[in-house]
Amino acid sequence: MKLIFEKSVPGRDGVSLPKDLFNDIKLEELLPAELLEQEKKSLTEVSEVDVIRHFTRLSKFNYGVDDGLYPLGSCTMKYNPRINEKMAGLANFVYAHPLSSPELIQGSLELMYRLNQMLCEITGMDQFTMAPASGAHGELTGILIMRKHFLELGEKRNKMLIPDSAHGTNPASAAMGGFEVVEIKSNERGTVDLDSLAQAMDENTVGLMLTNPNTVGLFDEGIETIQRIIHDKGGLLYYDGANLNASLGINRPGDAGFDVVHLNLHKTFSTPHGGGGPGAGVIGVKSKLIPYLPTPIVGFNENSKKYYFKDVGTKSIGMVRSFWGNFSVLVKTFTWILSLGAEGLYQCSKASIINANYVLTKLKDYYKPSYDRFCGHECTLTGREYKKYGIKTLDIAKRLMDYGFHPPTIYFPHFEPYAEETIMIEPPESEGKEVLDDFIKIMIKISKEAKESPELLTSAPQRTPISRTDDVLAVKRPILTYDDELELKDELNYQEKDINY
Ligand SMILES: *Cc1c(COP(=O)(O)O)cnc(C)c1O
Repeated sequence: MKLIFEKSVPGRDGVSLPKDLFNDIKLEELLPAELLEQEKKSLTEVSEVDVIRHFTRLSKFNYGVDDGLYPLGSCTMKYNPRINEKMAGLANFVYAHPLSSPELIQGSLELMYRLNQMLCEITGMDQFTMAPASGAHGELTGILIMRKHFLELGEKRNKMLIPDSAHGTNPASAAMGGFEVVEIKSNERGTVDLDSLAQAMDENTVGLMLTNPNTVGLFDEGIETIQRIIHDKGGLLYYDGANLNASLGINRPGDAGFDVVHLNLHKTFSTPHGGGGPGAGVIGVKSKLIPYLPTPIVGFNENSKKYYFKDVGTKSIGMVRSFWGNFSVLVKTFTWILSLGAEGLYQCSKASIINANYVLTKLKDYYKPSYDRFCGHECTLTGREYKKYGIKTLDIAKRLMDYGFHPPTIYFPHFEPYAEETIMIEPPESEGKEVLDDFIKIMIKISKEAKESPELLTSAPQRTPISRTDDVLAVKRPILTYDDELELKDELNYQEKDINY
């Protein structure tokens, strides 16, 4: 398929202006010379219909949360209500300049101030920074805050404990923050092994980064003991709350003793994400860590009744993101929380946990779970049983696409007993029972196909715009232009029928 640049025709345009009115206009007479480009930019020259058809066609190749179930474990691909977009698109938010005087942007400041209060209430923390632009960015911010805390105390701690069931970004962030990562093994119930934790924790250790529910969707049962082990040795507890979908209104990390928490507003709090879209990995801390938070922090002056940017003081780790972070995500989160209310948030987590356990219960005879226990907001199964038929989990995922579903997360997490052929399903609260029943029916059908006609799986998908890609070739010979594509097809002797888009 041609890129929009390859569709360019010299002189073609999207608008035609009346010649008699515009012919004699000389730009040099209207604009100062320094504002005029000296060289003509090589922009694509296409008509309106070219543009519309190009992008409409591309959009049909895609699959998103607006098309159907997107059960991608650890990602919380939920439906994002349109009211969020409408609010984020309000002119006073969109056109608020981040360098305006606070007098002119009281509404935006109030939103950040009140969102902080709501997130503190939801998590049991004392203050949030809205600056970090993603979950991983929030983790790094949290790590820098923890590091600063110990620097101020004059303590030299250089190790960070991270369970093998943590999200992969945790060890990466800890290492970026300059700490040595010590892995803690899981026990036979899939949660942190408390004896190993107690052995590893000492006065040279910063603390523990806990993903909860962990990457296999299980809630850590030993949380009180974990808290004691870390705090008794003067350490800090970091909570990866990217997946707060399982906890809203049920448990609060602040109450469980956590000192730093990050939330992915772009997952739990319903902002479209994936493909690198704007995110917000906001960080909440307990009061003793507030001095280290980055800028900006919004305050409210009781006397003047005005919102203002606080002076964060000299202990702050500084700035981690320009201006106010990804402000539009904050507006969407604020809208979502207000439209659900406290009871609605609780119902949301209840529904996502029930959804995941419903799928787990209905599928466990076909795809074995590694632990026989209830899960949180996502369940982890394996396709191991089908290896004897020559079927990999990848084939199961590809076959799901033929039935119109986005595949779940596969081959993650990597640790035993999951290491083989993992399937991680997260059916968020926005999915109704009918959708889940359809999904379950198809997963069971695929398990039969795997035994009876495995070729249906190994050749899948057949019903999508692009069929199974050759992953190795795609890496070695990326197709970046239409000419690359024609050349490769010629080399591989592709038949016309293979050009399926
Ligand atoms: C998604 C996720 C992250 C990372 O968030 P990004 O916004 O992708 O950087 C961290 N931890 C957990 C548990 C996650 O699910």
